[in-house]
Amino acid sequence: MTSIAFIGLGNMGGGMAANLAKAGHDVRAFDLSAEALARAAEAGCLGAASAGEAVTGAEVVVTMLPAGKHVAAVYEGDVFPHAAPGTLLIDCSTIDVATARSNIEAASAKGLVAVDAPVSGGIAAANAGTLTFMAGGSKEAFDRAEVILSAMGKAVIHAGGPGAGQAAKICNNMLLGASMIATCESLALAQKLGLDPQTFFDIASVSSGQNWSLTSYCPLPGVGPETPADRDYQGGFAAALMLKDLRLAMEAAQSVDADTPMGAKARELYEAMDARGEGGLDFSAIIRALQAGTA
Ligand code: NAD
Repeated sequence: MTSIAFIGLGNMGGGMAANLAKAGHDVRAFDLSAEALARAAEAGCLGAASAGEAVTGAEVVVTMLPAGKHVAAVYEGDVFPHAAPGTLLIDCSTIDVATARSNIEAASAKGLVAVDAPVSGGIAAANAGTLTFMAGGSKEAFDRAEVILSAMGKAVIHAGGPGAGQAAKICNNMLLGASMIATCESLALAQKLGLDPQTFFDIASVSSGQNWSLTSYCPLPGVGPETPADRDYQGGFAAALMLKDLRLAMEAAQSVDADTPMGAKARELYEAMDARGEGGLDFSAIIRALQAGTA
């Protein structure tokens, strides 16, 4: 049993903290939201009055916060002043690569050990303990983190040095965003050309156009496995979160002078979707604008 401080009990963090408690760890949880804290207490965590209180005496600190600025502020304001030397910091939030690297550097300067460990998989996977973690940091830090992360996920992969987890996450999601749009426009075109959607699905599924967005997350209702499309695009992975990841990918691409025209186009199309007030819908709902010719 490890004593773990868990900071950020939102859509993702709530289920993750609960799974750590279920695995027998001593979880001291904190969130700015009293409701989130109350839910964590019901799930077997011990509520703390502040992030600093949760961190005091913890062997491991897990953060699951919205963006880089939140993680940097919590590290500076709450974690560094209260963490004992040698404490392991695991940041599971999706943040920019530069902040992830500077957080790990700052932690190391304080005698702490840190990894960036963003996740793939949404709220359902967080609740079920079936997330995929991609971690960046030293081998020693990864080995310590792997034991903890295994209680929350089905796969824990060492992506490389500091920031490599975030780099893997945004590259994966850039690929996902672009492939979802390509899948949606192909399905919409097939329909306009008079093809039956199920027939096109059956053909593309066993042809060279096959991809995850088509066969595991089909954006058309009634075709393929059950997906958010069958629930009127509610739940799933919000378009606004895909947009956040695409923005991070474009920022990272600019920092290393990488040419990412498909990623840039995907960001543009998700920006337009968000501006139409559809950021809360699952990201596969972009097919509706492609069908209507309003994307
Ligand atoms: P969320 O907004 O539901 O949760 C964030 C929580 O952090 C909130 O409860 C908020 O009150 C809390 N918080 C903010 N500042 C704080 C502070 N200073 N101290 C304590 N608590 C604080 O977000 P989420 O959906 O849980 O996502 C968390 C991270 O996971 C994000 O980086 C997101 O990009 C990433 N992610 C989300 C999903 C998803 O499907 N939701 C999937 C993969 C990755």
